Amino acid sequence: MSSIKKEAERCLKCKKALCSAHCPISTPIPEVMELFLNGEINKAGELLFINNPLSAVTSIICPHERNCTGHCVLNKKGAPVEFYRIEEYISRFYLETMEIPEIKKNGIKVAVAGAGPAGITMAILLLMKGYEVTLFDAGDNIGGVLRYGIPPFRLPKDLLDMYKDVMLRMGVHFRPNTRIGANILIEDLFPDGYKAVFVSTGTGRPNKLGLVGETLGHVHFAVDYLKSPKAFSLGQHVAVIGAGNVAIDAARTVIRSGRSKANILHYMGPDDMTANNDEVEMAELDGVEFTHYVQAVRIMDDSVRCVRVKRVENEDGTVEFEEDYNEIIDIPADSVIIAIGQGPGADLRAPGVKLTQRGLFEVNEWGETATPGVFAAGDIVSGPRTVVEAVAFTKKVFARMEEYLNEN
Ligand SMILES: Cc1cc2nc3c(=O)[nH]c(=O)nc-3n(C[C@H](O)[C@H](O)[C@H](O)COP(=O)(O)OP(=O)(O)OC[C@H]3O[C@@H](n4cnc5c(N)ncnc54)[C@H](O)[C@@H]3O)c2cc1C
Repeated sequence: MSSIKKEAERCLKCKKALCSAHCPISTPIPEVMELFLNGEINKAGELLFINNPLSAVTSIICPHERNCTGHCVLNKKGAPVEFYRIEEYISRFYLETMEIPEIKKNGIKVAVAGAGPAGITMAILLLMKGYEVTLFDAGDNIGGVLRYGIPPFRLPKDLLDMYKDVMLRMGVHFRPNTRIGANILIEDLFPDGYKAVFVSTGTGRPNKLGLVGETLGHVHFAVDYLKSPKAFSLGQHVAVIGAGNVAIDAARTVIRSGRSKANILHYMGPDDMTANNDEVEMAELDGVEFTHYVQAVRIMDDSVRCVRVKRVENEDGTVEFEEDYNEIIDIPADSVIIAIGQGPGADLRAPGVKLTQRGLFEVNEWGETATPGVFAAGDIVSGPRTVVEAVAFTKKVFARMEEYLNEN
């Protein structure tokens, strides 16, 4: 691995930078590289922070091969510039040394429900403009999935403490362990003087398989497990059902518990996994096993009953997967972790706010719900996506919310 300085020197600073064009939040990569190489690290950090307050996080966990790195022109020569390594250094340094300017409060109160990536972004953008922000979260700390989902070996948690510190220094009021929709309803907020409410409560409810055996004592949902892995007593053979990033995170965490083997059970083949390639590679290095082309049909006390799945290539080139109920396999498992996606919790409603069929908040392109003053962004709007997408949409919503706050 080359030094980050050498890496930055390799950048061609293209006029039409494909890396920036394919970044969901349009990070001005050539400009950042220029500042970095000129030794202007603070300016580079400020540029990154203003464009994407969570750049210290996304530099680490973005699917880079799909975004910046994947579109670097130097891919043609087989060695793209790994901008994210430079970004990680700059953004962390900026957060560590950040001076908060004197910000004049404008007296306008805004409530933010949910302190994950979308909520943190909205809170920072509002605070920087002088709004008075109360940030509510059902959990005991900020971060959402960043703190209670993505394992620490992929994302250092001290970064989240730094974000909390930055927001506190900017004057945020943080109300932990406060679930909006339980004691405090969205409609309770307006009479207390909040002019707008931003909902960013994510999709923390795991999807069910709907199989016999799902409620047994040795069966767990991945997002529950990842919240506090030490709280779970797993067996020695853990079957993880699913093939996305959440399944991979759960399996790699199981391996790190030091006592158990993890076996990912996947409906399709190795090339059809939804997890990022590098995550799959790391899981293989960790020793995670993969059993492809199986469909779980029942969970039993000591195994997962599966049927074999066949990959069928049609004449028109399309591919289908067919379950063969004549071929039954019992895969040994004394613990089972289910990771087949997430949806929104059922508790959060607001008068007039419409929900989609999946229970997500229905909003227009600016994140406005049908109820004036209630905005939403992040996974609660898009369904489970990525951090950078949550931040990018929140920025757009912030622009509209500011207009609303000044109009009303
Ligand atoms: C295990 C896992 C691994 C992932 N890995 C990656 C990755 O590598 N890269 C990537 O880009 N993305 C990844 N993602 C997706 C990414 O984390 C999400 O897209 C992102 O966190 C969405 O941000 P959010 O703010 O909308 O929601 P969340 O992060 O879910 O935050 C929602 C917050 O709202 C709070 N909340 C919920 N209900 C209420 C309520 N009623 N009142 C108050 N607070 C409430 C929750 O406690 C939580 O803090 C991963 C997701 C998971 C689950």
